Formats: sequence, C-alpha cells, structure tokens
Amino acid sequence: MDIKKVVVIGSGTMGSGIAAHLCNANVPVTLLDLTTEISEKARDRIFKSKPPLLLDKSQIENIKVGNINDNFDVVKEADWVVEAVVERIDIKHDIYEKIFKDRKEGAIVSSNTSSIPIKVLSEKLTTEEKKDFCITHFFNPVRYMGLLEIVKNENNDLAKINSLKKFCEVELGKGAIVCNDTPGFSRK
Ligand code: NAD
Repeated sequence: MDIKKVVVIGSGTMGSGIAAHLCNANVPVTLLDLTTEISEKARDRIFKSKPPLLLDKSQIENIKVGNINDNFDVVKEADWVVEAVVERIDIKHDIYEKIFKDRKEGAIVSSNTSSIPIKVLSEKLTTEEKKDFCITHFFNPVRYMGLLEIVKNENNDLAKINSLKKFCEVELGKGAIVCNDTPGFSRK
C-alpha cells in the first residue's frame, strides 16, 4: 500500500501534530477542521511550536488547510484519512459516514481516539468498510513520542494493517505495536 496523500480531520493538539509529522516525512497532507480559520490557526501553531513539530519550517506550505464543508473533496484523493476530532462518539460517527461516502476505494481510515473501543467506533460501518478501519493512537507531541498503538478490528485486512504499520515505522520513525481493543489498548 502506497501512502502518497493523507487527510487529517481535526486540527487540534493531535491532528496538527500528526499533520506536521507527515510533513516531516514529505507526505502531502491536508488538515481539515470545522472552519478554515481553525485549521489556519493550527498551521500557525505548528510553525511556531516549541519544541518544533517540523524538522524544516520552510516545508510548512506542504500542509494544506481547509474546512470539512467546502474542502471535503480532498478525501477522494487520500490514501489514508486520519480522524483526530474531539473525543465524542456522535461526532466521530458522523465523520466516518462522510469519509466512507467519499474515500477512494481501499483507502485506510483511522481514529486517534484515546479511549473509545474500536468496536464502538466501527459499529455503524459495513463489513467492507471495517476492512480498512483501525485506530492509530499517536501520542503528544507526535514528532517526539516514539510509540504508536494500532488497534485493529475483527474484519481488518491484515495485509493492509501490516503495511500501514510498516509505513509508520519506516517513514514516520515510530515504534508501532498492534494492541488489543481493551481499555488502555493493552499489548497482545
Ligand atoms: P483537541 O480538542 O485539541 O482538537 C479537536 C479538534 O477537533 C478541534 O480543532 C475541533 O475544532 C475539531 N473538531 C470538532 N468537531 C469537528 C468536526 N465535526 N469536524 C472537524 N473537526 C472537528 O483534541 P485532541 O487533544 O487533538 O484530541 C483528538 C483526538 O486524539 C481525541 O480522540 C483524543 O482522545 C485523542 N488523543 C489525544 C491526546 C492528547 O494528548 N491530547 C493523545 C492521544 C490521543
């Protein structure tokens, strides 16, 4: 699986950190939030962050910004869509409905949730959609925290999960581990 373009939805602490770190790996990324003003402010925070989230601040323009109403079409081009919105299941479910309507066939969709079980996150997805859905739990600050927990569901395409894990290890430099769908995502 080639990850050439990523969309991150939710430009708060985690979404902006994930977008910045994808930028560090030279992966074009679009950061969407409720309004473009919010995601522009997030990009500004990335630029000014201390310690810096970016390896090279001149790359900041490689992070595109927009809002989920006017710019959702970018999802159609993405190989990976990362959801990093507020920890509210109703909001996350609404976003997954929108993403799965528009995503490119086979594109990975993941959540950065800290506490919602994948069973609950994915309860409204079809079996086909579940194949490409997982949790990718990055830690703050994303550039500096080595651990990435990946939580899969019972319907996942395991080859795809393994290739996402490899991408996160090789391109993002993370120590990625596959975890159980338990509180705290304990390791297998
Ligand atoms: P945050 O509050 O900093 O940011 C959330 C962003 O989501 C905000 O910018 C908000 O405007 C946006 N948002 C809300 N509704 C939206 C919608 N419908 N569409 C698009 N954007 C929307 O939150 P955070 O701390 O970045 O957490 C995001 C996720 O990451 C949560 O699931 C959280 O559990 C998880 N997480 C957080 C941390 C942490 O240290 N903060 C660590 C690991 C995981």
